[in-house]
Amino acid sequence: MKVCVIGGGASGLTAAIFAKRQGADVTILEKNSSCGKKLLATGNGRCNYWNHDQSISHYHSSFSDLKSIISLENQQLILEFFSSIGIIPKIKNGYYYPSSNQAESILHALMYEVRHLDISLKFNFLVQNVLYDGNKFFVCSKEEQLEFDKVILTTGGLAALKGESIGIGYDIAKSFGHSILPLYPSLVQLVSNTSFLKNWAGVRCDASVSISSNGTTYKEEVGELQLTDYGISGICIFNLSRYASILLADKKKVFLTINFLPFVKEPILDFFEGFEELLSHRSIGEFLEGILPYKLVRVLLECCSLSFSSMYNALTFKEKETLFNTLVHFTLPIVGSKPFLNAQVTVGGIPLEEINIETFESRKQKGLYFAGEILDVDGDCGGYNLSFAWISGMIAGSNIKRKGEVNDTH
Ligand SMILES: Cc1cc2nc3c(=O)[nH]c(=O)nc-3n(C[C@H](O)[C@H](O)[C@H](O)COP(=O)(O)OP(=O)(O)OC[C@H]3O[C@@H](n4cnc5c(N)ncnc54)[C@H](O)[C@@H]3O)c2cc1C
Repeated sequence: MKVCVIGGGASGLTAAIFAKRQGADVTILEKNSSCGKKLLATGNGRCNYWNHDQSISHYHSSFSDLKSIISLENQQLILEFFSSIGIIPKIKNGYYYPSSNQAESILHALMYEVRHLDISLKFNFLVQNVLYDGNKFFVCSKEEQLEFDKVILTTGGLAALKGESIGIGYDIAKSFGHSILPLYPSLVQLVSNTSFLKNWAGVRCDASVSISSNGTTYKEEVGELQLTDYGISGICIFNLSRYASILLADKKKVFLTINFLPFVKEPILDFFEGFEELLSHRSIGEFLEGILPYKLVRVLLECCSLSFSSMYNALTFKEKETLFNTLVHFTLPIVGSKPFLNAQVTVGGIPLEEINIETFESRKQKGLYFAGEILDVDGDCGGYNLSFAWISGMIAGSNIKRKGEVNDTH
């Protein structure tokens, strides 16, 4: 059985290895001059390839039964797979990295296995379209047409890509009758339009932050914020960004609510009153500088129209209320996200209802399989996008020789 894997990224390499281990004759077609270019950029070059906490809440999809894909059995099989190709994890707070701390270790281990199994590789092969004549698939570049019995489409999403040949995988899926759920950038920086941004640019601080629209709060995260001259960044912002992208595309108004004092457990009034003696001779600005970055203190005081030298005891009730709200319920309007080029992952894609989730074979076209980011699954920061790439690649590759059932041909 001749199997073509289109795209030599995380999910494609995994699918190819598992298909070959089943005895299929596998060829990987990759448009770049080497495989796994994106893998090398993951985890800041360290490749956060897995997470111990595989709670389903870290994955997002319009499909409701992700649990049967991210099952305990599949998790175990992926950890065994990495062990089988010689990867030893370095685990930090549940986040898995290769023990070398280098993404190259993951890519090289996959490529050594690809070569050991004698999987064919064709580089600089930009697949333009795929045809099916009722018996065979014809995978076409501008110059060549290759014939296969089965095809696994693993061309990834739209995130972090430059150039013209982007998104062809979605067109190929559409040509076989698949729908594509709207595509949005996620794990990306958020843009605001307030006047003080240049004054807080460069500040890093710990905070809790939630995203809301029209009175509904969608998600809350705790962690380090990076305040910038365009808006806001940081891992916790990345994890909220999918909601911003979706809501803004729907023309909704979007806000972040930031608590800059997440370590204050008592009511904020009690916290301030607890420093009564200090506040009798230290101005609000001087006091806050002991707690928060000085650039941020100036922005926050400006936002509540207080001067740096204002004394706490001289504030009116209203002024205190404004100060407290600014510190623990700071509202930042969000008007956009940075584009796909800055994003780490794509929201949306091929709906999982259109594939058989036991095999990842298309329900529209017998012999056509999908894996990875092209599907409508995106994950939080923390190794979840690669986790899905490995698991889906493994399922597609392992089931390539199973006789498929198609119940919705076009
Ligand atoms: C900067 C950055 C950091 C990230 N860090 C992490 C992290 O630490 N942990 C994590 O879990 N996730 C991370 N991700 C996300 C993760 O890298 C992706 O979700 C994952 O690589 C998706 O795997 P994939 O196989 O679906 O697609 P990809 O890895 O993108 O592979 C797709 C492959 O298909 C090829 N291709 C596309 N179209 C064609 C065509 N028409 N013909 C031939 N070949 C084609 C591409 O060249 C590519 O090699 C990060 C992403 C970025 C951008």
